[in-house]
Amino acid sequence: MTVNQEFFTLNNGKKMPAVAIIGTGTRWFKQEETDKTFNNDLVEQISKGLTLPGIVHIDAAEIYRTYPEVGKALRENKKPRDEIFITDKYSTSLKITENPIVGLETSLKKLDLEYVDLYLLHSPFITVEKYGISLEQAWKDMETLYKQCKAKNIGVSNFAIEDLERILKVCEIKPQVNQIEFNAFLQNQTPGIFKFCQSHDIRLEAYSPLSPLQKKPDNYESDPFYIYVADIAKKYGKTDAQILLRWVTKRGVVAVTTSSKFSRVQDAQNLFTFDLTQEEVDRITELGLAHPAQRLYWNDVYDK
Ligand code: NDP
Repeated sequence: MTVNQEFFTLNNGKKMPAVAIIGTGTRWFKQEETDKTFNNDLVEQISKGLTLPGIVHIDAAEIYRTYPEVGKALRENKKPRDEIFITDKYSTSLKITENPIVGLETSLKKLDLEYVDLYLLHSPFITVEKYGISLEQAWKDMETLYKQCKAKNIGVSNFAIEDLERILKVCEIKPQVNQIEFNAFLQNQTPGIFKFCQSHDIRLEAYSPLSPLQKKPDNYESDPFYIYVADIAKKYGKTDAQILLRWVTKRGVVAVTTSSKFSRVQDAQNLFTFDLTQEEVDRITELGLAHPAQRLYWNDVYDK
């Protein structure tokens, strides 16, 4: 079956799917990875997701404690490995494993995989005091994993310009991706990051792309942003969520979403059966910018 999918080319020439349909953090996040906390709903959601046509992109991380569920769904599914794109992240808020090399080797074992498609440093907050290694050394570990083909692509997450500049000064391999909080209401997680990544050919990836729908203001029915998105959704026969995800990809950014409802996961995989005009993209950008930027994640570190 032919599937409409879009891919972005990364700075190493490789391609990645423009949308990740099952993020395994946020609503699936757990404090512990034990038999008691094992979540069958997540296994079911991933398993169903893996029956969808096309390349299915799953977003995982050490800190989410969801490797047992992701591993089970991967072991039980029939989709060929090259039709699955797996992103994983080294934990940087809590030291779970001693460095990125041990981190990825551990997760590969838990997931029964030989490689991940993308491995990220979850944030720049790695210090010698806490981790025994500097941010620069952590990046060297990422490069080792890339050279060993245990990570087909490497990148970072929640990096501001000054964090990326530290890496760019010492790197042999440039980060392919910076995964940040990005949506119509928050178009720069940190000052200037959108332009900086574009100009350095570092692909942006957006988590919380549906933040405007997750936290609607009381007066949303009379708000020009919501009215416009609903109008466009009606025009194309799509959901508001699909319009917002498509807007993200039209900005050249990979969208990372998730849902407890399979129909929404399906909608995300079927995102490229319609297109937005440049005028519509610009209008959503403009109406979104009129809203006060609101971060859902990492507020404690950015607001210091
Ligand atoms: P989204 O912004 O896509 O939000 C998903 C949530 O939106 C779901 O809980 C879903 O609820 C809800 N939703 C979907 N459609 C609608 C709708 N039409 N109206 C209202 N609500 C809707 O992404 P997340 O913020 O959840 O993040 C996605 C993934 O990104 C995470 O799981 C994780 O993998 C990654 N992430 C990475 C971070 C990082 O630091 N690198 C930080 C945060 C997330 P429902 O289940 O009811 O459909």
